[in-house]
Amino acid sequence: MTIAIPFDNSYARLPGGFHSVQAPTPVQAPRLVAFNADLAQLLGITPGEVGEMAQVFAGNALPQGAEPLAQLYSGHQFGNYNPQLGDGRAILLGEVVGSDGIRRDIQLKGAGRTPYSRGGDGRAWLGPVLREYVVSEAMAALGIPTTRALAAVETGEAVRREQVLPGAVLTRVAQSHLRVGTFQVFAARGEIGHLKRLTDYAIARHYPDADGPMGLLTAVRDAQARLIARWMGVGFIHGVMNTDNSSIAGETIDYGPCAFMDTYHPDTVYSSIDRYGRYAYSNQPDIAVWNLAQLATALIQQAEDKKAAVEEATGIVHAMPGLLEREWLRVFAAKIGIERPVEGDKALVTDLLVRMARGQADFTNTFRALGAPKARDQFADPTAYDSWAQGWRQRLACEAAPEAVMRGRNPAFIPRNHRVEQMIAAAVSGDYAPFHRLNSVLARPYEDQPDHIDLTRPPAENEVVQATFCGT
Ligand code: AMP
Ligand code: MG
Repeated sequence: MTIAIPFDNSYARLPGGFHSVQAPTPVQAPRLVAFNADLAQLLGITPGEVGEMAQVFAGNALPQGAEPLAQLYSGHQFGNYNPQLGDGRAILLGEVVGSDGIRRDIQLKGAGRTPYSRGGDGRAWLGPVLREYVVSEAMAALGIPTTRALAAVETGEAVRREQVLPGAVLTRVAQSHLRVGTFQVFAARGEIGHLKRLTDYAIARHYPDADGPMGLLTAVRDAQARLIARWMGVGFIHGVMNTDNSSIAGETIDYGPCAFMDTYHPDTVYSSIDRYGRYAYSNQPDIAVWNLAQLATALIQQAEDKKAAVEEATGIVHAMPGLLEREWLRVFAAKIGIERPVEGDKALVTDLLVRMARGQADFTNTFRALGAPKARDQFADPTAYDSWAQGWRQRLACEAAPEAVMRGRNPAFIPRNHRVEQMIAAAVSGDYAPFHRLNSVLARPYEDQPDHIDLTRPPAENEVVQATFCGT
């Protein structure tokens, strides 16, 4: 059987200034290490033989209908504007419309140099590829908007970082790879024709009901507010919320030094490059507003009446903190069993979080155990939980089915950092069993799965991951 991908490309139809035509650079000895058959089915892809799929997902063979290109974008990295970024190691093969009617990009990450590679080698090593595979699929199973992983291939080539490491390519699937930075690059260059074209494209592709640039801004704001609230609800720290990693479709994108918190603390930072904690857990809502302001600034450039556009955009951006807070409360209220939060519920949630931080409670396990004796054991001083739970129980008396609400919102399983690191170390030495195990358990994060209870445990002292690193 031959692999068939029903490409229907739209980005390739945009003018040349949007991208560079760029084929992947072949690799020596591709070996398919993962293929996501369920996702392939959603995308209407007919799988081929393993050897053939290795060739295709390594970029050695272009499937029928692919029109490979690298996308142009720019962005603010840690607050500083970088006038040109672009796909330096990613190549878009094309798009497919899934059985759900949604158009998605199929992109090879780590497929070789492009005109945007700057000093980079265009490659990825196995660790970040498997990390993104596991974490993005876990995110999808948690029900949080995200890019997906279709395949992972080992290239049979070495990649030089601080060490020599095995190379790999990830096939990433996204509702699109449009970022805030895609708008910024045209705005900053004064390429208003392209900016208008991009705005129309984004509206048609993602928010067909949006009315013009300000309608788009509003839609992105709402999608981002929902997304970031959902991250907060599972203790997810993205780690590099640069504007080039901020998706217009409102998906989690670019899994680099990201991490799920074990012990709860609002200031938690894992990323080795985030020295000042710009992207710390609790800063994420503020950063999302900051990023939206950059999108607003870019979109405004196309307005005829700039003054009016600035005023309107300012109103849209200024409404985001309130929106984020409402979304946050909705998420956290559900985590404690409350379907429709009312006055006072915010204080109840905040009180729990303050006690969790003080008590060094495990974020995931505390919420999962709420109401059970195991919850109090998460706290250094269990009476801190007991006194909170008293007020909480009184509040729950007015709720119809708190247990059911909580169960679907408090996962038992998250991709814990130490497990991800152990999985990578095993894969590098040729053992893919932990990778497959993580994928299969994390596909059902809200089920107890008693056989895999070890994966719910926080790291032992010698297993704690102190820092995470970029995917480069
Ligand atoms: P990221 O940190 O993955 O969001 O990447 C930031 C920018 O660096 C993007 O323009 C990437 O394409 C580029 N980049 C990252 N790694 C590499 C690499 N190994 N080779 C070339 N470009 C890269
Ligand atoms: Mg990026």
